[in-house]
Amino acid sequence: MTAMLSVVTGCMFSGKTEELLRTLRREIIAKRSVLLFKPDIDTRYSANQVVSHSNFSLEAVPIGTTTPEQILGLVPDQTHVVGIDEVQFFARGIVEVCKQLLKRDINVVAAGLKQDFKGDPFGSMGTLLILADKITMLTAICNICGEEATNTQRMINGKPAPYDAQQVLVGGTESYLAVCNRHHQVPGRP
Ligand SMILES: [Zn+2]
Repeated sequence: MTAMLSVVTGCMFSGKTEELLRTLRREIIAKRSVLLFKPDIDTRYSANQVVSHSNFSLEAVPIGTTTPEQILGLVPDQTHVVGIDEVQFFARGIVEVCKQLLKRDINVVAAGLKQDFKGDPFGSMGTLLILADKITMLTAICNICGEEATNTQRMINGKPAPYDAQQVLVGGTESYLAVCNRHHQVPGRP
């Protein structure tokens, strides 16, 4: 079988990590060799595990966001699938890492945010979506109206964060909401 790049994406609280872990767990049940990587800046639940919001977890190797190439040296040839969580946090080299793994006939499942809180493409996700052989696009529920949510709203002290706020701020429900298109607000957007 030919190796494939699968990308799992969506806004925050759409279940991306859940879906990544579900996919990898199936491979583990099939007794295939699985390796999972995560950016070392995401220590929300654990430094060396990926934990979904519903508390399912797998061991993960933390990697510096500026040096995704490290992944290549850590993956033995007999690996069947490499999972990468929060892939949007890695530097652009992550795209080449995915390509090299595919060349070595190793499947890749990459999960991450498609857009930042401003609605702009996040990291290399745009490129990965174009390269993807399979895409799982997940949605959440709007925190305000209950309709389908596809955006990530950052909040600061209960108010929408301004456009000029920094792109990366690792957080959960204290800083972010999932919202629909109508309720997505980015004050100060030019
Ligand atoms: Zn809404």
